Amino acid sequence: MPKKIVIIGAGPTGIGAAYRLNELGHENWEIYEQNDYIGGLAASFRDNKGFVWDIGGHVLFSHYPYFDKYVDGILKNDYVSHLRRSFIRIQDTWVPYPFQNNIRYLSNEVILECLVGLYEASRNRQPSANFREWIDAMFGDGIARHFMLPYNEMVWKFPLDRMSKGWIAERVSVVDFKRVLGNVILERDDAGWGPNSKFSFPLHGGTGAMFEGYRQALGDHLHLNHKLISVDAESRTLNFENGHQTTFDQIVTSAPIDALIPMIKAAPQAICDAARNLSFTSGVMIGLGFKKPCPSDKCWMYFPESSSPFYRVTYFSNYSPNNTPGPDHYSLVCEISCPRGTVDDVGSKAVETTLDGLLAAGLITRDDVDALVSTRVIKLERSYPVPSLERDQNLKVAQAFLERYDILSRGRFGGWRYEIGNTDHSFMQGKEAIDRLVLGDEEKVWTEIG
Ligand SMILES: Cc1cc2nc3c(=O)[nH]c(=O)nc-3n(C[C@H](O)[C@H](O)[C@H](O)COP(=O)(O)OP(=O)(O)OC[C@H]3O[C@@H](n4cnc5c(N)ncnc54)[C@H](O)[C@@H]3O)c2cc1C
Repeated sequence: MPKKIVIIGAGPTGIGAAYRLNELGHENWEIYEQNDYIGGLAASFRDNKGFVWDIGGHVLFSHYPYFDKYVDGILKNDYVSHLRRSFIRIQDTWVPYPFQNNIRYLSNEVILECLVGLYEASRNRQPSANFREWIDAMFGDGIARHFMLPYNEMVWKFPLDRMSKGWIAERVSVVDFKRVLGNVILERDDAGWGPNSKFSFPLHGGTGAMFEGYRQALGDHLHLNHKLISVDAESRTLNFENGHQTTFDQIVTSAPIDALIPMIKAAPQAICDAARNLSFTSGVMIGLGFKKPCPSDKCWMYFPESSSPFYRVTYFSNYSPNNTPGPDHYSLVCEISCPRGTVDDVGSKAVETTLDGLLAAGLITRDDVDALVSTRVIKLERSYPVPSLERDQNLKVAQAFLERYDILSRGRFGGWRYEIGNTDHSFMQGKEAIDRLVLGDEEKVWTEIG
C-alpha cells in the first residue's frame, strides 16, 4: 500500500504537490483547504459588477520550465503577454523602475546627491550586517534617503536594521556608478532590469485561473471548508474544525508554519517560541472599479513617500480586458502594508484613505470618484514573510521538529522564505516535496536558493 500523503492548503504549493502526485500516478492522497475556493493568495474573484480581483497585483513570470508546462496545460493560449511599464511616484514626477537606474528624472540637486552618494559608497564599500546597512553600503546616502529606505519601510513595516540581507539577490536591482552616471549624462532610460520585465497574465479569470483550471483534476481528493486545527503527530491523526478526522503517513503543508506548530500536540515550548518569533507583515488590498476608460497604459507604480497610504498601485484592467465588465471601465488594485495586529483597523477605512491618496497623487480626479462603481477590500493577516535576522535560526528549529514526523512545510508562509515566496517557487516546492517523499529525490528550490 503506498503511503498516505495529506496536503494541507490548496494554494500554489498544494496544487504543485497534487499535480505531481497525479503525474506519478500515486493514488493515496488527500488535499484539505480551509476556504471554499482554491488558489490561496493567488486566487481571484469576480464580483457582481463583473470586475475580476486578484489578492494584490499578481503577475506571472517563472523561473522553471516545469511550472511553465503546467501553466501552458491550464491556460493554453488564454493569456496576455506584457512588457513591464512600472514607475515610482516621487517628488511629483514619475521615475521609471528601477529608481536607482533612472534618477535622471529627478531635480538636479537630487541627482547630484544620489550620484555623490553612489560614488562614495562604491569607492569605500562598507561591510553590512543587516538590510539597512546593506542599502547604505550599496547605494549611498541619496538613493537610500530618497527611495530605498522610505519604500522598504512602507512595504515591510518592520525595522530594516532587524532584517537580513540574504534574500535580496533577485529582489533589488544593484547598479554600478558608471552605469548610473551614463544614464544621467546620456539621458538614457534603463528600465529593463529584473525577472518580471516581461510577464504574462491570464486572459480570463485573473491569476486564480491558473489554479482554478486544475480543480477538476483534484477530483474527490479535494476537501474544501476543512480547516486543520490540531495534529496528533504521534498517532498521525489530523483534526479539522468541522469535526472531520483523518490519518496520515506524510504531510506537505503550506499553512503558515507559525500557526501550524502550536496545533501539534506535544510541541515543546522552545519549538512554539521559535515559530512565534517568525515575523510577518499584514496587508490590505483595495480594488477600485471605475466606469470610465483607463487613463493610463502603466502596469504598476511604487509610492515611497509617507504622504501616500499605499506602497503600490496596479492598473489591473491593463493586464486583461476581461478584468472589467467592459472597455469603458478600468480598475486599480492598491496595496497597503501594516504591522501585525492592525489589519482590521486599517481595512475599516481603507477605501477612503486610498481614494484620498490617489487624488493627492493625481492618479484620479473627482470625476473618477463619481465613476466608482465597485470596491473590494481584502484583508491579509499575513502578506509578507519578513526575512528577519532571527528567521533562519527559528526556521531551522521549527522545520527540524516537523520533519521528525514526516511533515514538510513549504511555500510562502509554510516555508517562510520570501526569496522563494512567489507563485512559481511555491508550486515547485510542492512538486519537489512530493518527489522527495515518493521518489527519495532531493528538493532543489528549497535547498539551493537563499
Ligand atoms: C500582495 C501580494 C502580491 C503578490 N504578487 C505576486 C506576483 O506578482 N507574482 C507571483 O508569482 N507571486 C506573487 N505573490 C505570491 C503568491 O501569492 C504566493 O507565492 C503564493 O500564493 C504562495 O502559495 P502557497 O500555496 O505557498 O501559499 P498560499 O497561497 O497562502 O496557500 C496556502 C493555502 O493554505 C490554506 N490553509 C492555511 N491554513 C490552513 C489550515 N489550518 N487548514 C486548511 N487549509 C489551510 C490557505 O487557505 C491557502 O489556501 C504575491 C503575494 C502577495 C501577498
